[in-house]
Amino acid sequence: MDMPKVSIIGAGMVGGAAAQAIATRGLADVVLVDVLGDQTKGKGVDLAQSMAAVGVDTSVVGTDDFSQIKGSEIVVITAGKPRQPDMTREDLIDVNCKILKSVCEQVKQYAPDAIIIPVSNPLDLITAAAARYLDVDKKKILGMGGQLDCLRFAQKIKKRIKVSYKDIQTTVVGMHGKDMVPLPEYSTIKGITLPDMLSPQEIEDVVEETKNGGAEIVDLLKSGSAYYAPGESIRIMVEAILTDSHKIVCSCVFSEDDGVFLGRPVMLGKEGVHKIVTLKLNDDDDKKSFTSAIATVKELAKEII
Ligand code: NAD
Repeated sequence: MDMPKVSIIGAGMVGGAAAQAIATRGLADVVLVDVLGDQTKGKGVDLAQSMAAVGVDTSVVGTDDFSQIKGSEIVVITAGKPRQPDMTREDLIDVNCKILKSVCEQVKQYAPDAIIIPVSNPLDLITAAAARYLDVDKKKILGMGGQLDCLRFAQKIKKRIKVSYKDIQTTVVGMHGKDMVPLPEYSTIKGITLPDMLSPQEIEDVVEETKNGGAEIVDLLKSGSAYYAPGESIRIMVEAILTDSHKIVCSCVFSEDDGVFLGRPVMLGKEGVHKIVTLKLNDDDDKKSFTSAIATVKELAKEII
């Protein structure tokens, strides 16, 4: 049976973790592309050998030859610099936009029909930049950021309430960064919303810890940023798209309503964005934060080169 093909541009920490997560689940054959030739080939062989342990027949190859992405259903873009301690994601805009531009040229040439999942930071701007450079239907461009924030929100909740992850559902919208908007009212434990399970102070703490979830790791690693949970987050999006499941995943997508790429709950399908779920946002602070994220993203988008 023919496997779908998923290409990952940028075979660093996040690219490698995503490749492993996708291939191990038997979702697709994976092509890892990076400017670092032999290192990437080596990573590909290592991952391919790990499939023998898992007993899954997906292939993984590493290469510096972009033509190998031909025929990809999905192209994930993780090429770029990660942040270091004392850096914000926004500090990476110039360097990562330059890298993105060159990557998009290759994608246009070899995989013009693919669905694109930008991952490099600053995520919301990189996603908007990818849409500009690629000039394809915006429904095919879905940034990964919100899904990772949802995992972090779930982990902080589980530290307080010792239930199975299977029972925890979280929703985080807005920018992928310190201004993200975790939504307690749209986050549940077995269908029971967070305000029924935690005190207002506990919710405030959990929300703050979620917002700080990436920086916490950057500070501890001393060099580079998170990759295991980002890899799994990419896998969740890839799986939803390839299986046309219409699973609701918080993703950075374009809405005609506000005219920006921003994190929101989205039903994912084979066409990319199947449907955006518009939330009422009953809480005034959440509404204010989301509205201000729209303005911030519009302002920052002026810096896209
Ligand atoms: P990394 O340094 O380990 O890997 C990046 C890779 O990109 C390197 O191997 C580098 O050689 C490669 N690269 C650079 N220019 C390239 C080009 N033109 N073509 C192909 N490959 C190229 O970094 P990482 O930890 O894997 O992080 C990658 C990016 O993902 C960073 O920008 C980071 O901030 C971002 N990130 C985003 C999220 C998210 O939730 N959206 C989470 C974690 C990391």
